[in-house]
Amino acid sequence: MPKGYKQKFRHFCLDQPDFKNWLTKDQSDKSKGFCKYCKCSINAKIYQIRAHRETKKHVQNTKCCAQVNKLTFLPIKSDEVCRQETRKHIKCPKRI
Ligand SMILES: [Zn+2]
Repeated sequence: MPKGYKQKFRHFCLDQPDFKNWLTKDQSDKSKGFCKYCKCSINAKIYQIRAHRETKKHVQNTKCCAQVNKLTFLPIKSDEVCRQETRKHIKCPKRI
């Protein structure tokens, strides 16, 4: 191993169920991890990753993202349901 070898980000962290949803590799610094929610680098040390997960900022960002995901991944309605809803909408008397 060459001298001055930089500790690479521990990839096993990415497979941890607790981390894998938000943790990725830092593209600019391979020795670090990157939080997708907070858009910030985290030291590769596992206790620092855990510490980051506990921060208020991160918890808050996780909640925001979870809400966005819910909206984004709504189940697609079948054509039939859409048609029924459209009909209902058309039948609905106009309120004047
Ligand atoms: Zn974070």
